[in-house]
Amino acid sequence: MPRRCTVCDHPDRLAIDRSLVERRSTFREIAAARDLSESAVHRHASEHVPAQLTRADDARVAVTANLLLRLLTRLYACADAILARAETAGDDKLALGAIRESGRLLAIGLRAVEVDEIERRLSALEEES
Ligand SMILES: [Zn+2]
Repeated sequence: MPRRCTVCDHPDRLAIDRSLVERRSTFREIAAARDLSESAVHRHASEHVPAQLTRADDARVAVTANLLLRLLTRLYACADAILARAETAGDDKLALGAIRESGRLLAIGLRAVEVDEIERRLSALEEES
């Protein structure tokens, strides 16, 4: 039977993981505070925490990207509505401002797509090697 991780099984595991991630305490301090061995905390930190962190990071990035996309879409819709009003009113100065703003938002969106594409290609390369 594989040996269980005493830190994974610990009732205080979430607090321990938080301490490890935030690096506010040393392995020794974390172990001493909870009657765990320092080597168990070290093993847990190197073998069990990174996988969780990666998942948390991925989720955070996805949430942030989603939020930014929604904000960008909303801002673009506003600029578009202003452009429509400017055209109706024959206000060329306002129309140019709305067009400039739309272009700026498009450039931001395009940069995000490029970054996403570069990251996708990098991950593909990492998987190959
Ligand atoms: Zn563990």
